[in-house]
Amino acid sequence: MKRKHAWILLFAAVSLCACGQQEKMQKAEGVRLEAAKEMQTKMTEKEKEMTQKMKQEAAAREAAEKAAAEKAAAEKAAAEKAAAEKAAAEKAAAEKAAAAQGDFYYTALTDEIKARITGISYPDTAEPLQISYQELAYVHVLHYDFNGNVKEGELVCNQAIARDLTEIFQELYRWKYPIEKIRLVDEYGGNDERSMEDNNTSCFNYRVISGTTRLSNHSYGTAIDINPLYNPYVVTRSDGTTSIQPANGTAYADRNAEFSYKIDHEDLCYRLFTQHGFTWGGDWKNTKDYQHFEKKY
Ligand SMILES: [Zn+2]
Repeated sequence: MKRKHAWILLFAAVSLCACGQQEKMQKAEGVRLEAAKEMQTKMTEKEKEMTQKMKQEAAAREAAEKAAAEKAAAEKAAAEKAAAEKAAAEKAAAEKAAAAQGDFYYTALTDEIKARITGISYPDTAEPLQISYQELAYVHVLHYDFNGNVKEGELVCNQAIARDLTEIFQELYRWKYPIEKIRLVDEYGGNDERSMEDNNTSCFNYRVISGTTRLSNHSYGTAIDINPLYNPYVVTRSDGTTSIQPANGTAYADRNAEFSYKIDHEDLCYRLFTQHGFTWGGDWKNTKDYQHFEKKY
C-alpha cells in the first residue's frame, strides 16, 4: 500500500470513529432529553395531582363552611321561632287572663286595698278581729247608674260569696238593673248611715248591728245592701213606733207605695240573690231590712 492510501484509510477510520462518537453522543442526548421529558411529565402530573388535591380541599373546606353557616342559620331561625312562639304564648296567656278577668272579677285583697280599708271598715285595733284579710276578697263590677250610664263598682266581701257577687252583678248589668253607686264604705269614713243616705251599695263593714252590741253580718262580708235609700232598714219597736235608716229614706218605708228602685219579690235583685242562696232582709219578721241580702257560710 502506498503511503497516500494509508493516510486516506487512517482519515477514514478516524472519521468513522468520530462519526460513531457523535452518534453515541446524540443517542445519549436523546436519552437525556427523554428522561427530562419524562420527569417533566411526572412533575406536571404531580402538580396536577396537587392542584387537584388543593382544589378538593378547598371545596371540602367551602362545603364545611357552608354547612356550618347553614347550621348556624338554622339554629338562629329555630331560636327566633322559639322566641316568637314563647312571646305569642305569653301574649295569649295575658289576653286569656284579661278576658277571664274582664270587668267583673274578684281577687284576694291587695296591699293597696288593705291600705284603703285598714283603720276604717277594717278596724286597726290591738285585738284581733273576727275576720282576717285572707278571708276577704275584692270584687270589681260594672253597673248602670240611675242615668243609664255605665259605672265601675267596688266591693269588699267574704271570699265565700265573691263568686256569687261577681255573677249576680254581671247579670244585673246584663239586664241594665239600675244601681246608683257601688263604692267602698271607706269612702264614707266607714259610716253606714252616711253611706245609706247617699244610696251607696256596699258589703263589708266591721260594725255592730245598729242598736245592739252584736256584730253585723257585714262584719264578715257575707251581707250586702243594695240601693239602701230606696230600700231602708225599718225596725218596729214593741210600742209600735218605728225607726228608719237612713233617715232620709222614710218615704220609702211604705212598701205599698209605688216608686222606683224598690226591691220586692218580683225584683231581679231578689230573684238573683235568692237563686244564689241568699236570704232577703225584707222577709224578716219584726224588722225589715229591704236593702239587705245575706248568705250563711
Ligand atoms: Zn245590711
